[in-house]
Amino acid sequence: MVYSGSGKYRGASGNLTVSGGALTFMRTDGFISKTQRIVIKIPVNAIANVNVEGLMGKKLVILVDASKLQGIPRHEFDIANPYDAMKAIREEMDTEVAKASAPQVSVKEVYVKEVTSIVKVPCSYCGVLNEVTEKKCAGCGASIGTK
Ligand SMILES: [Zn+2]
Repeated sequence: MVYSGSGKYRGASGNLTVSGGALTFMRTDGFISKTQRIVIKIPVNAIANVNVEGLMGKKLVILVDASKLQGIPRHEFDIANPYDAMKAIREEMDTEVAKASAPQVSVKEVYVKEVTSIVKVPCSYCGVLNEVTEKKCAGCGASIGTK
């Protein structure tokens, strides 16, 4: 299910779209360039929870998983048919979970591998350990890689 509805986010009028594994709010008001049109884009796999709150005006409330997406943890969208949007987001979240269950390397694992792959090599002149990315020895200043 794909959702698209007009409404407001942080005072900006625009359109909320839920499709392709992300929630996107694009402005439709004012004189703005194409690059300024996207107000916010949240990948559904970074969403911790989605709800509809409020007694009078129902609002779509998105809580972001801070470990996956930094920034504002709570987003309120004053939009048409918030329940439809919530349903669409939950369906997208389920789809992403199904995709994630397939064997793949997560962002966290990639990060760990990158960190552990930094290899240190001893300087052939003074023996001080230098990262392979360094061009000169931190100990004696000799060029590295010219044995
Ligand atoms: Zn050295």
